[in-house]
Amino acid sequence: KPENVKAYQDALNKVRQELGKTVPLIINGERIFTEEKMTSLNPCDTQEVVGYSAKATTEHAEKALQGAWEAYSWWKNWSMDARARILVKAAKLLRERRHEFNALMTLEAGKNYAEADVETAEAIDFLEYYARQADKYAHPAETYPYPGEENELHWIPLGVGVSISPWNFPLAIFAGMLTAPIVVGNTIIVKPAEDTSLIAAKFIDLLIEAGMPAGVVQFLPGVGEEVGDYLVKHPRTRFITFTGSRSVGLYIHAEAAKVLKGQKWIKRTIMELGGKDALIVDETADLESAAAAAVQSAFGFNGQKCSAMSRLILVDAIHDEVLNKFVERTRALKVGNAEENSNVTAVVNDESFEKIQKYIEIGKTEGKLETGGEADGSKGYFIQPTIFSGVDAQARIAQEEVFGPFVAVIRARDFDHALEIANSTEYGLTGGVFSGVRARLEKARAEFEVGNLYFNRKITGALVGVQPFGGYNMSGTDSKAGGPDYLSNFLQLKTVTERF
Ligand code: NAD
Repeated sequence: KPENVKAYQDALNKVRQELGKTVPLIINGERIFTEEKMTSLNPCDTQEVVGYSAKATTEHAEKALQGAWEAYSWWKNWSMDARARILVKAAKLLRERRHEFNALMTLEAGKNYAEADVETAEAIDFLEYYARQADKYAHPAETYPYPGEENELHWIPLGVGVSISPWNFPLAIFAGMLTAPIVVGNTIIVKPAEDTSLIAAKFIDLLIEAGMPAGVVQFLPGVGEEVGDYLVKHPRTRFITFTGSRSVGLYIHAEAAKVLKGQKWIKRTIMELGGKDALIVDETADLESAAAAAVQSAFGFNGQKCSAMSRLILVDAIHDEVLNKFVERTRALKVGNAEENSNVTAVVNDESFEKIQKYIEIGKTEGKLETGGEADGSKGYFIQPTIFSGVDAQARIAQEEVFGPFVAVIRARDFDHALEIANSTEYGLTGGVFSGVRARLEKARAEFEVGNLYFNRKITGALVGVQPFGGYNMSGTDSKAGGPDYLSNFLQLKTVTERF
């Protein structure tokens, strides 16, 4: 709507006037500025410094853990309702300030208006959904009758956790991962991604304004391998909720399994990792819709989504036709600045920029370059949407997560072969099938090894409360964020038996 575009433009101007500010750490409500700072850069062609963030050390982590346990001693006794009300208030504030958050996402993460606005909506949904779901854990889970006795199962929070989040959904995933544990009585230390500390800090300020008491959420922007690593390995960390890459996730999972001196529990880990998501198109599909869906799934936010389609598996009979449509639609995408609402914007940082170009070079030896294949422009981390065809299912570009505007097209003999190829990576996050044959869809329902499966529509992340989200195999612990049981990841059950 024109009024939204205007509000967004105004918000962009406002953020621009405040460029270069530093956001602090927050421990027990105290705002701490550190000598060393981290810089947030606009990845698009202005490459401007959007702002700076304080950088937490291991001493800060110690203090934050101590404070979080102290806060836990009283926060766990708040009623579920009182805690949920803070989330509802935060959702209301976020709705009012939607454009400010959108604008900051554009400048700090390179999200165009459409992608940023959907993300803000998702964050609002998470807050309201988890607030509603919390009520169900306020009561005994079950009661079991037995003569002369009463038996009840009660939900109990775990204690102090650590949330470590990625940059690609710097608001929605960040907000969802931290508010789910706290609404059911845990306290948490949050370590946002290095590239998007400013958005994280803005959300924390909003939570405080909504009534979050000091100590419940300790905000520690910093380097993953330093403060993140320290928190993961600390004996007083009770659980770790992590969203990020497979390699870091597996490392954290392994470290969390070690029992340290003074540690009283087995740490729980909730892992949401990468994907190599496949879309199958067969000869009975609506080919035009399939090609359109493939473009949206592959290149939305430049393919920097765990849910992005990165393998297009086409059965022989329609391979060339769909490939042509897919390439043609991809060539029509506009590459450019996020502020101009380009379809494909800059990738997040120089490291990603280099990594994707490395995969393009590998692709040239493993497939036929159909379109793209180059950086775009002289400034900013732009990469043309890139498609390789003729890729073997076992090739590196068909097996490894590239996390950019990059698709490997694989030819299959028929539907069964396509499904076999789809299942041939170690990931299992999202998948899709375009087919008009019911029996094939049923086969995919039973055998496609993914946590989120889409039929005859684009593969996406998920709608909160409608499509619980989380992957199989190396894509994670299938914790189903935005689903009706997600909050139980942060609770333990206690059986209480009373004799009369
Ligand atoms: P990443 O693994 O590089 O970083 C994620 C977080 O881990 C960051 O905050 C980082 O600072 C921290 N970290 C790094 N090393 C650490 C260590 N040794 N100890 C503790 N913390 C450490 O991932 P990224 O590049 O930020 O995000 C992209 C990845 O996230 C992709 O693989 C994507 O598929 C995945 N992802 C998955 C989901 C999902 O729901 N499954 C959603 C979004 C993103």
